[in-house]
Amino acid sequence: MNSKPILAALDDDTEILTVVSAIAEKAGFSVVANTQPNALLDLLDETPPLVIVLDLQMPQMDGIQVLRELANRQVQAGIILLTGMDERTIAAAEGYATARGLTVVAAMQKPFVPEDLLAHLIKAGSAMAPLTPKELEAAILGEDLVVYYQPTLRHFADGSWDISAMEALLRWNHPTKGLLMPEQFIEMAEQNGLGRPMTDFVIRRGIEEIKGWQASRMSLGLRINISAGLIADLDFPDRLEATLQEHDIDPSLLALEITETAMLDQNSDMFDIMTRLRVKNVNLAIDDFGIGYSSLTQLFAMPFNEMKIDKSLMKRIPQSNEACIMVTALVDLAHKLNLSVCAEGVETEEALRYLHEIGCDSAQGYFISKPIPASQVREVIHQWDRRQSLQSQTPSETAASA
Ligand code: C2E
Ligand code: CA
Ligand code: CA
Repeated sequence: MNSKPILAALDDDTEILTVVSAIAEKAGFSVVANTQPNALLDLLDETPPLVIVLDLQMPQMDGIQVLRELANRQVQAGIILLTGMDERTIAAAEGYATARGLTVVAAMQKPFVPEDLLAHLIKAGSAMAPLTPKELEAAILGEDLVVYYQPTLRHFADGSWDISAMEALLRWNHPTKGLLMPEQFIEMAEQNGLGRPMTDFVIRRGIEEIKGWQASRMSLGLRINISAGLIADLDFPDRLEATLQEHDIDPSLLALEITETAMLDQNSDMFDIMTRLRVKNVNLAIDDFGIGYSSLTQLFAMPFNEMKIDKSLMKRIPQSNEACIMVTALVDLAHKLNLSVCAEGVETEEALRYLHEIGCDSAQGYFISKPIPASQVREVIHQWDRRQSLQSQTPSETAASA
C-alpha cells in the first residue's frame, strides 16, 4: 500500500528529472517521472497527481500545449512551472494557466537551487492536500473558524435604506491554505456529522456579536444559515430559546435562513420544529428562492415568514427584462403570502433603486458591502449612513425617473 501523495514530473531532460525526483521523494512524494507529455496525460485518470512539475520547453509538445491539455481535463493538481525561459514568458504561462482554471503553486527558473525546489514542494504538498473532516473538527474546537458578516438593508417608503441586520457567513482560517470559503468545506462538514457543532459555533459567535452591538447602541438583527438537514433535532427550538433567554436577546432579532429546502419533505419532524421556532418568534427565511433547490411547494407547506431571492436573479437587474419580470413577480408573490422579501446579490445602485420601485422589503449585496470581519461592522454602518445622507442632499433622482 502506497499512501504517499503522487507527484508527476515532466521534462525532456532526464538529468533534471532525476534531480527533481530525488527532491520530491525527500518532500514525501511518490514520484512518476516522464519525458513524454503523452505519458503524463495518460496517467492523469488512473493516478491523479497532487502536484505536477512541468518543464515549459520540450520538443514534442511545448509547455503551453501541455497546460492546455491539463486545463481541458480540468486537472486539480497544483502545478509548478520549471523553465529556462525569462520571467515575462513564465508570467505569461502562469497567467494563461490560471485563466484556464489551473492552480499554479510556483514558477521557478532553471537552473534552480535544490533547497528552493524542496521548499516549494513541501508547501505545495500541504496546500494541495485535500481537507479532512478531522482537520475541520479540530478547527471547530480550536476556533480556527471565523464568522464574517454581511449587512442587510431595510427599505423605507421614501427610498432610503438602513442597515438592520447582519448575515453570518462562515470562513475557515486554515493554517496552510489560507482563508477558505464555505463551498470548500460545508458539504464535507454535513456529510461527516459536523454540521451541528459548526452551526452551534456560528450561533454562539453571532449571539456574542449581538450583545456587543447592543452595548454600542447598534440594534442589529442576526441572520444565520442552516441547512435543512440540520432541522432534525426536536430539542433544537428549546435549546435555541434557552440560549437566547440566557443572553437576554429578543428572538425576533434572529432569522434562520434555510437552504436546500428540497430536503424539507424528507423528515416529518421538520414541520414540527419549524413551527415551534416561529411560535417562539424566531424568523424563518427560505434561502436562494428562484433557483433549483427551493420550490413553491416548500414555501406553502412550511411556516416561513421571509423569502430571500437568489442572487443569480438580482445580478441581471435591470439589464435583463426576464430577470426584472421574475423579481417583480417574486416580490408580489411574497407579499400576497404575507412574507417579507429580501433580494440578495445587489451589486449596483440601479439594482437597489429597482428594488425600491417594486417595494422590496430588504436588500443585500456587494453594492452595500461585501461580507466583513466583525471588527469592521461599526465602520461599514457609519459609511453607509454617510452615503445615505449625501444622497438625500442631492435632488432625488428616484422621483425624476419614476
Ligand atoms: P448564501 O446564504 O446565499 O449567502 C450569500 C453568498 O453570496 C455569500 O457567499 C456572499 O458572500 C455572496 N454575496 C453576497 N452579496 C453578493 C453580491 O452582491 N454578489 C455576489 N456575486 N455574491 C454576493 P459565501 O459567504 O461564499 O457563502 C456561500 C454560501 O455558503 C452561503 O450562501 C450559504 O448558503 C453557505 N453558508 C455560509 N455560512 C454558512 C453556515 O454557517 N452554515 C451553513 N449551513 N451554510 C453557510
Ligand atoms: Ca443565506
Ligand atoms: Ca443565496
